[in-house]
Parts: sequence; structure tokens; C-alpha cells
Amino acid sequence: MNSALLRDCRICPRECGINRFSETGFCQAPAELKINLAQLHFGEEPPISGTRGSATVFFSHCNLRCVFCQNYLISREGHGHTISETDLVDLFFALEEQGAHNLNLVTPTHYSPQVQSALELAKSSGLKIPVLWNSSAYEKVETLRRLEGLVDIYLPDYKYAHKIYAGKYSHAADYPIVALAAIKEMYRQVGNLQLNDEALAERGILIRLLVLPHSLAGTKKSLNAIYDEFGTNMALSLMAQYYPAADAYRYPELCRGIEPGEYQEVVELALELGFKRVYVQQLSSDDLWTPKFKSSDSTMTINHCQK
Ligand code: SF4
Repeated sequence: MNSALLRDCRICPRECGINRFSETGFCQAPAELKINLAQLHFGEEPPISGTRGSATVFFSHCNLRCVFCQNYLISREGHGHTISETDLVDLFFALEEQGAHNLNLVTPTHYSPQVQSALELAKSSGLKIPVLWNSSAYEKVETLRRLEGLVDIYLPDYKYAHKIYAGKYSHAADYPIVALAAIKEMYRQVGNLQLNDEALAERGILIRLLVLPHSLAGTKKSLNAIYDEFGTNMALSLMAQYYPAADAYRYPELCRGIEPGEYQEVVELALELGFKRVYVQQLSSDDLWTPKFKSSDSTMTINHCQK
């Protein structure tokens, strides 16, 4: 592992410039790898979950820290346990043996150097299933370039089209521009989504767009930007699973799920633009899709929006 990258950490666009071995930056992540859950997951898009599940490995902490994050127990509060690179590789093989269709690395950006080493070891030792990089897309192009040849499928979010909301909810006003550049690099590496004979993803990119209440994510603007940049062969997942979590209760406009009309408008625009592969969800305003993360703090309080 290239530990120099952690001694002056500029792995992500935050460019904290701190020594991860002795201090923490915006993401709060230490130098050691830290994960929460590793399990077969059946709630991803059909070509990802298939019938035998996707082997999700959820990394603790996050470099985006959205105020409404549904994975806040691990992303914002950092629950999890440290794990060595070699133990992580053993875990990859154990999950492959359980029959997983793919290895799904969830929010790995802030551990890119460690995960790169683990993937190099795993692939040279015979890991066969495709590797997915499941991220917020708030990533630097140079960091993604180091993953070329190690990642088979990119599963980036495109969270915000408007810098005002990216700044307000994720302290990242540059998100729309940075994420689009990151997705372009992902696309350069792996191209459009390719499915095998069993309709399972084996290579390519699938962009996720989480619809927020009151069109705060700017999903229609995002769809137009994706159309202009990549055309209609880009695979999309339109996500309806927003519900208020974490600090959303501090923002009245975030204190409800999305309404059927808000979601329908987005689906209709994607179809009007002619996108050929669009995955949709049933509307859900609870935590149906959220994994049950392990928390070491049984006294933790959770603030809810008022009903
Ligand atoms: S990975 Fe974390 S410490 Fe490093 S630049 Fe990004 S937010 Fe800062």
C-alpha cells in the first residue's frame, strides 16, 4: 500500500492534507481500513443482485457526509471495526465462495490506497467475480486512475445538479462538476454497462440518481447533463428510496419522503430523452432498503422529523 498517500491525505477532492496515521480529516477515517458489514445483499438493481446476491462490503466513514444519509451509522458516526488488508482479501474470497455474483465495495473512496492493494492481491490470487466500486462520485480523477484494471463495474451516484444544495447538504458546492468529471473517468475505463447471458452485470457503469423531495437533487437537470455527456446508452438507476434520516430533521424541506408525482416526472423525462436502460423502484418512505448496520453504541439517540 502506498502509505505516502495517507501521510499527506489528498485522496479525495477535500484535499485535507493531514497525516491519517495521527489525525483525521473531513471524512474522519483513520489510516487503518475500517468496515462495518460484509454480507450478501439482494436489494441492489437486478443485474447487480441477481439471484445469489451481491457481496457488499460497507466501509466506515465517508468523504461526503450528506446530512440526510441513510447509512449515517457508518458514514457519519463511523461505527465499524478495523481490518487488515490481508484479512480483507480473505473476506473477498469467503464472499465469493458463498456464491456472490460480484464484490460490491460500498463507499470505499477514502480508503482507495488500501483497497487498491487489497484488490491487486485478490486479483493476482485468483478472485474471479467482477469488482464494483459503489461510490458517491465525489472523487478525484487521479485517484480513480489508480484503480484502472482493478474495478470492473462502477456504480456512482450523481447526487446533486445544483451547487447550492450540494453545499448546503454535503458541504461540497463543487460536487456537480467534480462528480461529472469522476464519472467521465469511470466511463473511459469501463464503458457502458454490459450484461452476460444471465443478465448479470460484468463490466461498465450504472449511474444512480436519488430523487429528493421538492426536486432538491435537481434530477431532471442531471438527466439532461448525463444525456449530453454520454448519450442514451448510459444505464441509469432512478432511486425512490429517500426517507429523512440523520440530520435531515434540521431541514424542514427534507422532512418527508418523495411524492409519486415527483418520481414519475423524473421517470418520464428519462424515457422521453430515450435512455435505453433505466432501473426504477417502488416508492418507499421507510428504511426497507437500508441494511441493518452494527452499532457499538446502544445509547445512541436518533432525531426524527416531526410527523
Ligand atoms: S480522504 Fe478524508 S482525509 Fe483524505 S482528503 Fe478526503 S476527506 Fe480529507
